[in-house]
Amino acid sequence: MRVFVASLATETNTFSPIPTDLTSFHGTFYAPPGKHPETPTLCSAPMVAARKRAKAEGFTLIEGTATWAEPAGLVSRAAYETLRDEILGQLQAAMPVNAVILGLHGAMVAHGYDDCEGDLAERIRAIVGPDVVVAAEFDPHCHLTAKRLANLDLQVMFKEVPHTDFADRAEELVDLALSAARGEIRPHVAVWDCRMLEMLPTSRQPMRGFVDRIKGLEGKDGVLSISVVHGFSAADVPDVGIKIIVITDDRPEIGNALARRLGEELFALRGTTGHSYLSIDDAIDAALATPTGPVVLTDVWDNPGGGTAGDATFVLRRFIERGVRDVAFGTIWDPLAVNLCMAAGVGARMPLRIGAKLAPRHGDPVDAVVTVKMVVPNAIQHFRDSVVPLGDSVAVEFDGIEVILNSNRAQSFEPDLFSNLGVDPLQKKMLVLKSANHFFGAFSRIASRIIYIDAGGPYPGDPRRVEYRKLKRPIWPLDADPHGSLHDKASGS
Ligand SMILES: [Zn+2]
Repeated sequence: MRVFVASLATETNTFSPIPTDLTSFHGTFYAPPGKHPETPTLCSAPMVAARKRAKAEGFTLIEGTATWAEPAGLVSRAAYETLRDEILGQLQAAMPVNAVILGLHGAMVAHGYDDCEGDLAERIRAIVGPDVVVAAEFDPHCHLTAKRLANLDLQVMFKEVPHTDFADRAEELVDLALSAARGEIRPHVAVWDCRMLEMLPTSRQPMRGFVDRIKGLEGKDGVLSISVVHGFSAADVPDVGIKIIVITDDRPEIGNALARRLGEELFALRGTTGHSYLSIDDAIDAALATPTGPVVLTDVWDNPGGGTAGDATFVLRRFIERGVRDVAFGTIWDPLAVNLCMAAGVGARMPLRIGAKLAPRHGDPVDAVVTVKMVVPNAIQHFRDSVVPLGDSVAVEFDGIEVILNSNRAQSFEPDLFSNLGVDPLQKKMLVLKSANHFFGAFSRIASRIIYIDAGGPYPGDPRRVEYRKLKRPIWPLDADPHGSLHDKASGS
């Protein structure tokens, strides 16, 4: 048995002004063959899972490149083609193989390629032929396309948002791929398209119960794996949206019926699954009214993990205007301001222009006379077992507000992003983050309360206000009745 494994991943927000090129991949995470660390990153987890199985079972594992770029705007054609061809060349050299296992994200869009992962899968299929198992793990914030269905035997998405189960799903994918390669199972993939755009966090109801229930359906009646494709609506590509995948051991009728039933259930939950958001002023009022700290407030629509810059100033500006004190912001992305503060040094008091340098819809820069409190070259934060680089970073203070400025875009994951910059998160009344979901695990352990702020942008959080050009219609909430069934039911026909 010979198995090839590789990983190529990023999440492309086609509305983001930040281009993604080869240095974005090399600067975020790049492991050439054999150099992948023992700990998994989000999308390269199948490599670590495959290593474990190869060691236990003695098959030959051939590792290709694993790379990941922080989510941002369109990937350059040269970057995508270079990385794709690097992996295809490694596969060609590894032939013959019995299985190809991929760690993908599934929402990569490049100049000239609306469906990078479909293109990659199609080229892999052309190399290995029809009989070799090709399997991929995806982030649920992916697009599901006909090209992927035609060329991949197995697709498994993380079930959890925040994505706490990426390593478990990688082990499941590797297990299914090996079983298929050995002829022990014959995977049939059933799909039902919900025709719907919606946020589906699983840290709250009703999605918590939905995910627990689909887990309970796996392993029965020939059902091997069930995934919910959440989609990534900050991309103007045709196949955005929520879909259900049911993989059975050659039981198409059971798979198709179950995918449809679960899809209809999910469609019926539309409008009820997301977090409830507060306006900036309501969020400040609610935080001030909370007797104990730290209150954690998160600016969900400027989450660099969704491809935005992380430099929007809407929330910071309002805190300043209202004279709110005893608050720390972590972080605002501003490499230029970081450079100026590092040159001035710790203890310097200086005028500084903060944030919103990238695009009009990020707000206006904030001008303040700040004191440089701490300077940390190559600062980091943690995300569970992973070390997340913040780049050169500084903490500045003015008017009872501390702001951490970083030079490597990153969403807020864990409280050590504050403590590593000399700000004790437990001593602050309020902490303001930039993250939509992934902060939740670590910050919920210290927060007296968590508040989700809708500052209106720059992420296109409301699909009804987005000018999609390529998105296939009809789709809810742009179209009230994409399945054409509500009218039928209402009229009794
Ligand atoms: Zn995701």
